[in-house]
Amino acid sequence: MDGAQGSVAQGSRGGQAGRATEAPAERPAGSLRSEVTPVAEFASSAFTNGYEFTQGSGYKLPEYPFIEPPELRAGQPGHHPIVIVGGGLAGLTMACALAHYRVPAVLLDEDNTVGVKGASSRGICYTQKSLEIFERLGFYERIAAKGIQWSVGRTFAGHDEVYSFDLKQQPGYHLSSQPPFINIQQFYIEGFLVERIHELGGIDLRWSSRVTGFRQDAECATLTVSTPAGEYELRADHVIDATGSHSPFRAWAGASVTAKKGDDRWCIADVRFTKHPPVERHTWIEAPFNENRAVWQHLMGDNVWRIDYQMPPDADPEYVSREDVVRERLLRQFGADCAVEIVWVGPYAYRSECIDRMRHGRVFFMGDAAKVVSPFGARGGNTGVADADNLAWKLAAVIKGRAAPGLLDSYHEERHEAACQNVLVTNRTARFLRPADGMERTFRAAALGLARQHVFARHLVNTGRMAIANPYSRSSVCHSTGGQSVQNVGFEWADGTRGKVNDLLRWADGRLLLLLFGEASVSSMQRLRALCESAPLRAVQVTGPEERAGAREFVRDTDGRLQGACHVFGHAWALVRPDSYVAATGESVDAGLVRAVARALAADRETA
Ligand SMILES: Cc1cc2nc3c(=O)[nH]c(=O)nc-3n(C[C@H](O)[C@H](O)[C@H](O)COP(=O)(O)OP(=O)(O)OC[C@H]3O[C@@H](n4cnc5c(N)ncnc54)[C@H](O)[C@@H]3O)c2cc1C
Repeated sequence: MDGAQGSVAQGSRGGQAGRATEAPAERPAGSLRSEVTPVAEFASSAFTNGYEFTQGSGYKLPEYPFIEPPELRAGQPGHHPIVIVGGGLAGLTMACALAHYRVPAVLLDEDNTVGVKGASSRGICYTQKSLEIFERLGFYERIAAKGIQWSVGRTFAGHDEVYSFDLKQQPGYHLSSQPPFINIQQFYIEGFLVERIHELGGIDLRWSSRVTGFRQDAECATLTVSTPAGEYELRADHVIDATGSHSPFRAWAGASVTAKKGDDRWCIADVRFTKHPPVERHTWIEAPFNENRAVWQHLMGDNVWRIDYQMPPDADPEYVSREDVVRERLLRQFGADCAVEIVWVGPYAYRSECIDRMRHGRVFFMGDAAKVVSPFGARGGNTGVADADNLAWKLAAVIKGRAAPGLLDSYHEERHEAACQNVLVTNRTARFLRPADGMERTFRAAALGLARQHVFARHLVNTGRMAIANPYSRSSVCHSTGGQSVQNVGFEWADGTRGKVNDLLRWADGRLLLLLFGEASVSSMQRLRALCESAPLRAVQVTGPEERAGAREFVRDTDGRLQGACHVFGHAWALVRPDSYVAATGESVDAGLVRAVARALAADRETA
């Protein structure tokens, strides 16, 4: 979510030390894109994120060079199968996933770095599903090495603990090879993505390239790109809008948005200090050291703590983020004996927005361009990552002729359901944290009072329901038995070494993966072999402790984890998509499986 408003004084480029010197000013939203920027006036600083540096020592972010594109040299518009606009978390994940499937694409970003210029970080909490996706894309280890793993959360009202959880004990999280959460600054993940994209190859990353115009027709989409070396046009079959919450494509494509703006105000302080609280997610609904308003406390990479303070609704963003005011607040919480180094401070306000359709002709909206949620529960960036993972395999399958074009419509069906769910859940949290006077406030007081005394009432306390892999219940390409995410669980290869679901997905290489659990008859095996030869499908038999493998390709699931992760029991099959979601499950290798394969690739519609 990108809910920053108010103080937008611009810090030094590259996030180097330096206090804001300009007077805070309201940023004219989207003004850069409403007109074609003349060459000489290309403004290299990006103002589109609405979440900028105010003060602190900050971080030095990498700077990527502008390389003159072939279109400018040739004076001719290039034509590309896929153009991604926006190199934030969602756009870079999309590019990396396409590179993983060996599908070429161009990525355009108006900036020349990752993160938000001058700012420390926006997102910090990355959920298991995102970590599993990053593992499949081949750079999870870098995140694990830099980030902080956590699973325990505690919520306090005053000095009383009123809610707690340990995600490791919860069934939705405990099977995976990845931890429930890792905290790490968002720009690190974006930087690792850029590295990985370079390693994989096939993606043309174009920095300092701002899209200033767009049109589409039956032939193609045409983008106008403004760069330091001039302006050019680019044609594309498919355009991915990953430009964040100020997306110009919404207006260009005529997309409607359902929006809600709250009056809740927050001020983030990213700090290093000499105290070392437990590595847990601590939230206060009523913090005595913050005039009984809410506070969040999280550790992230480099020993930096994120402390998020709720402000009065009418708070002046400039005042609340002033260094002396921030320091006083920190000392009230951690005591006068605690030495504090301020890494970054920024005020923000929450809002929620959801686009009504995630596909408009050739344009697919993803990440914050598609929906904006308040950060409670880490549902913003994580769902942008899932958007990208959902669309990448579908585009790859359609472009390679493995699936019908109708498969692309399921992107809206699945990810819009997820977006609506995430907006709903975060809006509920936002209302609990900033209840309206009257009934909502009375309910919150009652919930807190009960939670102090009774375990049953603890679930009423809502400081953010942590992000999950959203299920798909309305997808036209998933059977009613499918639509759930498969965790990245472990198993044994035939030679006794350990493998995990992502290894099987990599082996399937963008095709569907059929896991056949238990022993199977010779005739079932023959039918399956024939199906694998005629459809983009790879199959593997999964045997339990006492079972005999009949197939050439088999793995062992001695503890039943793989079966549990696929949501099936006994002799059964699970059809798993490249994004590690179940398309369908069944019992026999029969016409039902053939239909499920066709449906998962939208091939049933073409022949209907
Ligand atoms: C305080 C705070 C805390 C948060 N915490 C979390 C968290 O813990 N976990 C989590 O998952 N999420 C969190 N979020 C949300 C997360 O930061 C966003 O959801 C995420 O950044 C969205 O990514 P994106 O790629 O969609 O958009 P962005 O990150 O905004 O990227 C958009 C990109 O598009 C580029 N661009 C824009 N316009 C153009 C144009 N015309 N031409 C070319 N390029 C353009 C920009 O330069 C930018 O690189 C938090 C947000 C805030 C504000």
